[in-house]
Amino acid sequence: MDKCSFCGRTKKEANILVAGLEGHICDHCIEQAHTIMNEELGIKKNIQFETINLLKPTEIKNFLDQYVIGQDMAKKTISVAVYNHYKRLMQKPDPDDIEIEKSNIILIGETGTGKTLLARTVAKMLHVPFTIVDATVLTEAGYVGEDVESLLVRLLQNADYDVRAAEKGIVFIDEIDKIARKGDNPSITRDVSGEGVQQGLLKLLEGSIVNVPPQGGRKHPEQKMIPVDTKNILFICGGAFIGIEKKIAQRLNTQIVGYGATKIRDKYDKDNLLKYVAPQDLRAYGMIPEIIGRLPVVTHLDPLDKKALRAILTEPKNALVKQYTKLFQMDNIELKFADGVLDFIVDKAVEFKLGARGLRSICEAIMLDAMFEMPSVGRDELTITIDYASRKLERIDMTMLKAS
Ligand code: ADP
Repeated sequence: MDKCSFCGRTKKEANILVAGLEGHICDHCIEQAHTIMNEELGIKKNIQFETINLLKPTEIKNFLDQYVIGQDMAKKTISVAVYNHYKRLMQKPDPDDIEIEKSNIILIGETGTGKTLLARTVAKMLHVPFTIVDATVLTEAGYVGEDVESLLVRLLQNADYDVRAAEKGIVFIDEIDKIARKGDNPSITRDVSGEGVQQGLLKLLEGSIVNVPPQGGRKHPEQKMIPVDTKNILFICGGAFIGIEKKIAQRLNTQIVGYGATKIRDKYDKDNLLKYVAPQDLRAYGMIPEIIGRLPVVTHLDPLDKKALRAILTEPKNALVKQYTKLFQMDNIELKFADGVLDFIVDKAVEFKLGARGLRSICEAIMLDAMFEMPSVGRDELTITIDYASRKLERIDMTMLKAS
């Protein structure tokens, strides 16, 4: 009679009996084996983490330099914050009872200046689960939209539901400025998308056990929740905070009235006031003090000038030019860019205010025909000239590129 080769259950006693070459296995044993496997893998992942070769801050910055152009201040700040964060995780119980606090980060800078890229690169370096979420989808519990718990669903998914791994991951919350309180008086109407959401976020940032619906979406009475401890999750928030320069200027101006004021005022770089951003400015912008307190590391990203945009095309490890060259190389075609073409692309990105994100769409528009035709033409070389590039761009409406 067929029976499980592991536990001896007969076909009748088991729900399912799977036949192998020389034996059988029942559903009970499959489940048990699965649990053992998960535990083993979980432990291995953990060990991997504990013995993670954490780079020193200067090494972290060197790593970031390979992928992100400029933004030295942000890179330096992030390097230190990440280093301290992971040192904190590895800390054994301390005899002096000194508890290192978490250093969640807030990045402030125009859209397309590399905020997401920085967070993504850090996660790549550390090999930890990482997810990007958008604060604009969040609303206060009970309203249309997503609950703050949903921020952790994707992290869990990216960690293959390994809760222990997810609990040491990084969450990048984009567009955090969109949940700023609108107006100075919080009590006029209920501010569904503002203060309430910030309150909700607070519990995540400060570290608590959050019940996460594994499939996402709204909380459901029947759905089994997975408890996730956010104590050790590093949160990196990013936002453009459009108009915050005004708040910064106001603060700087009030600080520097009186004797010698003009002299000091002249010292400020008026073209890039973001450099001086401080927690008070975030508060003036509509972030609640408790949230600001939970995001102790505040840093800024500089606007990208032509030189930076030009470097973005060629220098990062996976720069666009390198990617296109590789793609053609795979068809044995040598791709070359004639003198001035890259500057031409940068000029177009600046002219249409497309920023770094626009570089990609412009390149795609220029390269599309070549990528379509060249593999079947049988030539082994292609040079993109300014003339060729401008002809390709003429056909498209550049304002359309903005959306991408
Ligand atoms: P943000 O999050 O600030 O809106 P992203 O990080 O998403 O901007 O940047 C969009 C794209 O532009 C990135 O994927 C990258 O290709 C490019 N990019 C932006 N800033 C930089 C930078 N400083 N160095 C290299 N590439 C950059």
